[in-house]
Amino acid sequence: MANDAHAPAAPPKAAASHAAPAEAAKPAEAGHGAPAEAKAPEALAPSIHPLRRPAIHAASAVHKPAASGHARPASSHKPVSSHGNIKAHSAAAAGHGDAHDDGHGHDSEAGKVQNLVKAMLAANANYMKRNNSSYFDKFASKQTPRATVVTCADSRVQSNAFHPDAVNDLFMVRNIGNQLATSEGSIEYGVRHLNTPLLMFIGHAVCGAVAAASGDFSKLERPIQKELLTINIPKGINVNEGALMNVNNQVESAMLKFGGEVESGKLAVIGAFYDFRNDYKQGKGKLIITNINGETDPAKLAALSKAGNFFNAATGMSAAPAGGH
Ligand SMILES: [Zn+2]
Repeated sequence: MANDAHAPAAPPKAAASHAAPAEAAKPAEAGHGAPAEAKAPEALAPSIHPLRRPAIHAASAVHKPAASGHARPASSHKPVSSHGNIKAHSAAAAGHGDAHDDGHGHDSEAGKVQNLVKAMLAANANYMKRNNSSYFDKFASKQTPRATVVTCADSRVQSNAFHPDAVNDLFMVRNIGNQLATSEGSIEYGVRHLNTPLLMFIGHAVCGAVAAASGDFSKLERPIQKELLTINIPKGINVNEGALMNVNNQVESAMLKFGGEVESGKLAVIGAFYDFRNDYKQGKGKLIITNINGETDPAKLAALSKAGNFFNAATGMSAAPAGGH
């Protein structure tokens, strides 16, 4: 991955209220034909009210991103009683998988892995059965994604939440904190070599990376620190607000990096927030659009979204993305 010299322009200040480029301009509806692909969910601005206390426990946050509230009780169901000693049980499970079949078994690590690999192979066999050869032939020699999508690596954020079948349609880039800086090459590849007309950054509720970045992460491993340093948010900020701000920063950085593409109407840069906890009261699992090419004003976002105007307003938005589908 690129060395630091290639970092995207200066990391933007953590400012949510960034001047929207040429926003007001004209929502000219000229030719409407542009972004057929952005089946965007309703753009509704998240009300920026801290719904929870900052709850930032600095260094430990990254280790338990799910910790705020509803987390999976990972270790609480250890089958102590019936199997007696956990260690003895673990050893036994390692030898022959007597673990549960649900993929979230409560057995030893060995049992968990056995179950998971087995489940994955079974799922794959199923997938192969469900999709005939022509399904695979469509992309056998070439991929033709319509979007480069940058999400957090968080396991709760997956494309099936916002796409029926992302295969060959979403060029997915994942890292902690859904960042441009730490996956710059991959993102540039999507935008400049696969020519996706949409670049989307998706942050999410209770992001562990954001929580960690807003606290003291000096005790974490160096490589992790390195990936947190590029998340530019104030210390102590509420985690969801931090996630929203981080998305805005990513959009801003991307617009600097891909300024030519954005200006000429070849690239739309969208920021969104995946709210799987309903923290912003629009329903559990809602994908909320929070930024369109730098525009973050709720009313303007709603208007842009409604009009399907996802390209830079300055261009008149009629430039149709070339190629692709
Ligand atoms: Zn995250």
